[in-house]
Amino acid sequence: MSSPIAYLIRPSRPEAHVYAVSCTVQVPDAGGQRLFLPNWIPGSYLIRDFAKHVLRLEAECGGQPVAVSKLSKETWACAPCPGPLTVSYEVYAWDFSVRGAHVDATHGYFNGTSVFLCVEGQEAASCTLDIRPPPGECYRHWQVATAMARDGAPRRGFGRYRAEDYAELVDHPVELGEIRFAGFTACGVPHEVAISGRQRSDMERLCTDIRRVCEQHIRFFGEPAPMERYLFLVMAVGEGYGGLEHRASCSLMCNRWDLPGPADEPTMSEGYRRLLCLCSHEYFHTWNVKRIRPAAFVHWDLRRESYTRMLWAFEGITSYYDDLALRRSGLIDEAGYLELIGQTATRVWRSSGRHKQSLAESSFDAWTRFYQQDENAPNAIVSYYTKGALAALILDLTLRVRSTCTLDQVMRELWERYGKTGVGVPEDGVQRLAESLSGLDLGSLFQQLLHETEDPPLAELMAAFGVRFELRPAESADDAGGKPASSDPRRPRRVLGARLGNGPEVQLAQVYDGGPAQQAGLAPGDVVVAIDGIRANVQNLDKLLARSAPGERLEVHAFRRDELLHFEVLPQAAPADTCVLTLVSDVSPEVAARRQAWLGATESRP
Ligand code: ZN
Repeated sequence: MSSPIAYLIRPSRPEAHVYAVSCTVQVPDAGGQRLFLPNWIPGSYLIRDFAKHVLRLEAECGGQPVAVSKLSKETWACAPCPGPLTVSYEVYAWDFSVRGAHVDATHGYFNGTSVFLCVEGQEAASCTLDIRPPPGECYRHWQVATAMARDGAPRRGFGRYRAEDYAELVDHPVELGEIRFAGFTACGVPHEVAISGRQRSDMERLCTDIRRVCEQHIRFFGEPAPMERYLFLVMAVGEGYGGLEHRASCSLMCNRWDLPGPADEPTMSEGYRRLLCLCSHEYFHTWNVKRIRPAAFVHWDLRRESYTRMLWAFEGITSYYDDLALRRSGLIDEAGYLELIGQTATRVWRSSGRHKQSLAESSFDAWTRFYQQDENAPNAIVSYYTKGALAALILDLTLRVRSTCTLDQVMRELWERYGKTGVGVPEDGVQRLAESLSGLDLGSLFQQLLHETEDPPLAELMAAFGVRFELRPAESADDAGGKPASSDPRRPRRVLGARLGNGPEVQLAQVYDGGPAQQAGLAPGDVVVAIDGIRANVQNLDKLLARSAPGERLEVHAFRRDELLHFEVLPQAAPADTCVLTLVSDVSPEVAARRQAWLGATESRP
C-alpha cells in the first residue's frame, strides 16, 4: 500500500547545485491542494524564506498537467484533481551551513525544511522518502547518513526511508557523499559519528570521548534514552563553526583541526575541548528543547515566528550543562571547567548590551536581534546563550546554598512532567518548578536574572563554593579569558574601544559605546591608516597606542569609505572585562563538600 505522501529527492545536477524533488499526494484536497515550504528551521530563530530557492514547480495528475498558482512567498495552490497529485520542482542548494541545503560534486547535505513541501491539512500524515544518488558513475561510492527510519534502503544507502509525519520528516538532516563512519553504543543505544570533509581524525578516540558525554546525559535524565538511535553528522571544514539539534541526530560544522589527529598527544587541545562541548550541547538538546519544549513551540507554524521569552532556559541551561557534562564525565578537570565558565562570563562582561537588554527580551527578540546582529550588537543586546548559561549557573548554585535541591533535580522534573508527556512548558514553568521542589520563593532571583540588566552577584556566590571570581584587563585582542593574567595587570595595555575585523588592516568592525574611538568620532567600518603619524597595522597597534603619556591624545588618520578623516583619540587602559575563576585552596569542610557536590566527577577517567 502506498503511503499518503511520497517524497523523492535526487541531486539531479550537482554541478549546478540543484536537487530535483517531487511530492506525491494520494488524496489531495478536493478544493485544490495547497503546499508550502517552511520559512524557518526549528532551532535557528530567523526567517530564512527557503522557498526563494525553488526554481520551477509543476504538478500533474494521471499524466495530465494540473494548474498551479502561487498564493504567497512560500505557498502554492494546485487546481482540484482526483489524485494522486504529483508536484515536481527543483531546489537550488548552495547554503553551506547546518541550517540549509548544499550540493556539489563532492557531497550533498539537506535539511527537510529547505527541500520538502508541506502538504497543507496533511501535516500529520505519514510519508516515505526516496533518496536517489546523482546521475553518473563518479558518484557510485556515495553513501547516505541520516537518523531517519529506513523503509527498505540498505544501511547507509540510497533507497526508501519513512517518517510518521511532516515534523519528523524535516527533523532528520541528510548527508550524501563519501562519508567516514564510526559507531559506539551508549546505555544500549546505537550511536554513529559520520564525518564529511577532508580530515584524518582519530575516530576511535573521538567515539570513546563522545560516548562518555552521551552516557553522562542519558544517566542524568534517566534510562532509557528517548531515542532508538542517534547520529552525529559532522562537517569538517577549514573555517566555520556551528551546530543544530534534532530529535535523533545533530548537524555539526567544526574546524578539521579541532578533531583529534591520529598522532596527537593524549592531552586535550582547546579546539578538541570546544568540539566535545559542541557535541555535548547538541546532545543535551535531545531532551531540552526537542522534547522539553516551551508551550509556544508545541504547535508552531513554520511559516511565521514562534515567540517565547524562554530561550534562555533552552539554550542557556543547555550551555551550562554542555561544559559541566565534560567535567562530570571526567574528560576535563575542575580547573579546566572553571576556565570554560570564565570564558563564558568574559563574553557576557565584554558587551555593554547586557545593561540594555534583559534575558527575557533577548529570547523574545531572537528573530530580529540575536540572529540579525549588526555592528552595534555588543552595545545593544545580550546573548541568551552566554548570559543564559550564567543564569543557569546562578540558579543552580543558589538552590545548592539555600535548599537541598539542585538544578539537576529541576531538569529531571521538567523531563518527567513536560518532556515525557509532550506538554509544553509554560513561560514561568522553570521558576514554578524550582520553587515547588526547593520550597524557596525565587521571585526576586528570577526577576533579577531574567528581567533586569544589572550584573548578577557571581563573586559572592562563587565564594560560597570555594571559587574566586576576578576581573582583569584583556592582555591581547584574542584573550578569551578564563586564565589568570600572564603579565602585570597593574600595567594594562591601552585600547581604542573597538573590535577589529579579521583582515590585516586596522578596520573597526564594532565600536564600543562610550569608548575612546566612539568619543573621538571613529565609526564602524573606518580603516585606521596612521596613529601618531606612523602607518598602523594589526601587529603594531598595541605599540602605537602605548606611545602616548597618560592623558595625551593621539592623532589618528582613518578612511571612512574613500574619504580620509582626522581624529584626536585619547586611548584608555583596557577595562577589567576578562573573567577568571580559580579554586581557593584553603576552604572549610562545609565549603569543600559543597564544591565537591557541584564540581566533582561522577565518573573517573579510565
Ligand atoms: Zn543550542
